[in-house]
Amino acid sequence: MIVCLGRIVQDTDADSIPDDDVSTLSESLDLQGTIESGGITGVAGKDFGGLYSVKPLALIKPSGTEDIARVVKAASQTSHLTVAARGNGHSINGQAMADGGFVIDMRSTEENHFKPLTIDGSHYIDVSGGALWEDVLRRCVSMFRLAPRSWTDYLSLTVGGTLSNAGVSGQAFRFGPQTSNVTELEVVTGKGEITVCSATQNSELFFGALGGLGQLGIITRARVKLQPAPDMVRWLRVVYTEFEEFTRDAEFLVTQEEGESFDYVEGFVFSNSDDPINGWPSVPLDPDHEFNPAYIPQTASSVLYCLEVALHYRNSDRPSTVDTAVSRLLERLGFIQRLKFQLNVSYVEFLLRVKQVEEHAKANGNWDSPHPWLNIFISKSSIVDFDRTVFRKMLKDGVGGPMLIYPLLRSKWDSRTSVVLPEGEIFYIVALLRFVPKGPTVEKLVAQNHEIIKWCNKEGLDFKLYLPHYQSKEDWKRHFGNQWTRFVERKTSFDPMAILAPGQKFFKRTHTIKP
Ligand code: FAD
Repeated sequence: MIVCLGRIVQDTDADSIPDDDVSTLSESLDLQGTIESGGITGVAGKDFGGLYSVKPLALIKPSGTEDIARVVKAASQTSHLTVAARGNGHSINGQAMADGGFVIDMRSTEENHFKPLTIDGSHYIDVSGGALWEDVLRRCVSMFRLAPRSWTDYLSLTVGGTLSNAGVSGQAFRFGPQTSNVTELEVVTGKGEITVCSATQNSELFFGALGGLGQLGIITRARVKLQPAPDMVRWLRVVYTEFEEFTRDAEFLVTQEEGESFDYVEGFVFSNSDDPINGWPSVPLDPDHEFNPAYIPQTASSVLYCLEVALHYRNSDRPSTVDTAVSRLLERLGFIQRLKFQLNVSYVEFLLRVKQVEEHAKANGNWDSPHPWLNIFISKSSIVDFDRTVFRKMLKDGVGGPMLIYPLLRSKWDSRTSVVLPEGEIFYIVALLRFVPKGPTVEKLVAQNHEIIKWCNKEGLDFKLYLPHYQSKEDWKRHFGNQWTRFVERKTSFDPMAILAPGQKFFKRTHTIKP
C-alpha cells in the first residue's frame, strides 16, 4: 500500500492533487484514523501567529502512534513529502506547517494515554503528546490531587508542542522548564520507528527530542513528574519604578531555597500611563483593586515594572498563617508599598488564569488577529542594556499586550537537551506578546521585532531566541552555536531525510539517506 502512495504523490505537489484523491491517499495509507484534504483555508495551513499560511497536501487525524509511524514511513518512500506534527497550532511563524506535505493533528490522539504511575515513591502521569496541558491539570487534580510541577502561562498548548520547545512559566526557576520534568518519551522518529526513550534508554533521542523543535521525532507519549497539588494560591503583584531594584528582588527570590521564597515568580514591564492595555490598568488583579498613580514617585521614567508572585497553601491553613508567610517574604523586597495587589484563588483557577484573557480577546476579535510575538532569553549581563534601550525607548508605549520579563536559572535546565540558552547562571525570558488588529501595522511590528534582534546583535548582547524562527541553515547554525554539531548528528541519526517539522525551515528534505 505504501508503495502505491509513493506512486500517487511522486513528483507532484499539493496543488496538482485533486481533493477526491484524498480517498485514494486514505486507502493507500491504510490508517485507523482519518485523512482530510489540505487547503489554505483549513486549520492545518494556519497558526496562532497569523503571519504565514501554506497549503498542505492533507491533514491526518491519526488514531494512535501506529498511524503516525505509517504516515512518516509513507512519506519516506517518496522523494519530497514532509510531515509536520501539529499540536494546537499555537506557533507564531508557521513552525507546525508543512507546505505540500502531511500535517498530523496530534489532538486526535489526546485521549490515548492517561495513566498514573508510582516509581520509587514518586508520582508520574503518562499522557499523550497531543493532550492539552489544561486537561492534564484538570484530570490530575480532580482524580489524584496531584499536578505537574512546571507549567506554561497558558495551558491550551499540547504536551508534545511545549516539550519540543521548553515550556516555561513562573515555576521554572525552581523545577526547571517542562523539558526538565519528564522522564520518558515515546517518539516516532523520521524513519517511522516507534521508540521509547529516557535518560538511560535511547538517551540521544530522549534528550534530542526535548527542545528539539520537532526535528528528531514526534512525541506520542510523555511521562510527566507530579507533586501534591495545593488547594489555593495567594497571587500578588507589586510595582517598582527602578529596573535595578526589580531585578535585584526577582533574582533574590529565584535563588532562595523552597520554603524561603514564593512558588511562582514572574514579572512584566508596563507603560507609565493610563493606557487601558499597556499602562497602569493592566496591573490590578481584580476589578475592585484601584491603581492610584499618585503613589508613583515623580522620578519614575516612561516605564514601570511589576513583580508577580504566588504562594501555594491548603484550605486548612488559617488566613493569618498565609498573611504571615506572605509578609515575611515581602519584607525584604523594595517595591512601592502602596502599589501592592493581592488575591486568593484556587490553584486550578490560578493556572487557568490566561483562559479568561483568551475569552475576552475572542469576544473582541483580538484572539484571531495576527500575533507578531517575540520571545528571547537574555543573560543577566545584558538585561540592563536591553531595558535601557528596548523597554524604555523603543517599546515605552507598550506592545498592545503583556511584556513579560523574569529570571530563570540555567542550572535547572539539562544541558543534554536540544534547548539553546545564553551563557551565565541567571538569564531572563523576555516575551513581547503583541495583540494587534489586522492591517499594515502587522508588518511594522514584525519589522520592529527584527530591529530589536538586530540591535541585540549589534550591541553584542548575550541572548538566544526562544521559540526560534529562522529562514536559513546559516542562521540556525549561529543559533545553535557550539551545539550545532551535536544537533546535526542527532538529526542524521533520527530523521536522515529531513522529513519532520519542515515549518522550522532547518534542513532541506533529501531523497536518499545521508551517511
Ligand atoms: P504547535 O504550535 O502545534 O507546534 C510547535 C512545534 O512543535 C512545531 O514545529 C510542531 O511540528 C512541533 N510539534 C507539535 N507537537 C509535537 C509533538 N507531539 N512531537 C514533536 N513535535 C511536535 N510557551 C512557554 O514556554 N511558556 C508560556 O507561558 C507560553 N505561553 C503561550 C501563550 C499563548 C497564548 C501562546 C499562543 C503560546 C504560548 N507559548 C508559551 C508558546 C508555546 O509553548 C509554543 O507556541 C508551542 O509550540 C505551542 O504548542 P502547540 O501545542 O500549539 O504546538
